[in-house]
Amino acid sequence: MARPTSAVIHLDALRHNLAQVRKRAPGSRVMAVVKADGYGHGLERVARAMGGADAFGVAALSDAERLRAVGISQPILLLSGFNELADIGRMRQLHVDSAIHHASQIEMLEQADSGEPLRCWLKVDTGMHRLGFPPGEVAAAHARLSALPGVVGEIRLLHHFASSDEFADAPSGGAQTREQLRIFNEVCAGLPCERSMANSAAILGWPESHGEWVRAGGALYGMSVVEGRTGADFGLRPAMTFSTRLIAVNTIAKGERIGYSATWECPEDMPVGVAAIGYGDGYPRAAPPGTPVMVAGQRAQIVGRVSMDLMTIDLRGIAGGVVGAPVTLWGPDLPVESIASCAGTISYELTCSITRRVRFLER
Ligand SMILES: *Cc1c(COP(=O)(O)O)cnc(C)c1O
Repeated sequence: MARPTSAVIHLDALRHNLAQVRKRAPGSRVMAVVKADGYGHGLERVARAMGGADAFGVAALSDAERLRAVGISQPILLLSGFNELADIGRMRQLHVDSAIHHASQIEMLEQADSGEPLRCWLKVDTGMHRLGFPPGEVAAAHARLSALPGVVGEIRLLHHFASSDEFADAPSGGAQTREQLRIFNEVCAGLPCERSMANSAAILGWPESHGEWVRAGGALYGMSVVEGRTGADFGLRPAMTFSTRLIAVNTIAKGERIGYSATWECPEDMPVGVAAIGYGDGYPRAAPPGTPVMVAGQRAQIVGRVSMDLMTIDLRGIAGGVVGAPVTLWGPDLPVESIASCAGTISYELTCSITRRVRFLER
């Protein structure tokens, strides 16, 4: 029999969230970021559900190929651009836009310039210090790209925020975001063109950063990375319910210890449920005792260590806690942000980590 572990993807939530992003950034076009298999929700599935997006953003050329293979016709931006010469021809064939963040890419393009159209988005490092040209080198990079006959249309400018999840009312006052905005605006003043700055947090908290294109990832899946706030707090709807069932319920005596390394001791004789889910399914092993789960619609807690295929749950006071009862690990009634916070990570990492043995359904 198949394991009862499933991830249900809520297509109407994806559509709702896209509409919410549009409402938040009414003057901008929306690039739906679908990297990492649509943040773990399934690349083709989310791209189809969000067919109204103005463009898609991916981190791998193979993802762009998959999108074109299912008939996605919108512009697609490869967010880190090409890594080797051979990619350029493929991108031209598939009409995939390239981010250009490094001089080595311009050199490759100069070698590979065939006259076939390729659209470029020039990336500026405004202070995150991951990818992009330093502000002082952008004009020269822009000029080199503009000189290539194979680079079509206006070159667009983009940059990425490091801390846009800290809004103006945060203790930091959003100082880094303000500084990044200032630097980007200065660069753009000398090179008027379409601009793209905002990720989800900036879409929600920094309207002055919206520009011509926003790049929404997490928000489309109903997730927030803003400390202490869930997607629902911003009017978004979680797009995934991760769930399983209880496969055993046992009464364990006071003083007995549960699970690997015997880390959790029963304070009294108590019912302990065993759910068919573990880190082998993508549930975080780092989730400590006390992490919430829903059993038959009631809030319960993990006890002991999460193991590969199973986890143990305190069923004291849980009326429906019988063998076969549904167990929800996260979803509309249990924010994935809360689980991430218990496990010391962010919601995105959890949805991205679901493994291939989990059954994906749509509803
Ligand atoms: C992932 C990513 C985004 C989307 O970020 P979210 O926080 O998920 O909205 C936007 N831009 C770039 C360059 C990215 O890598």
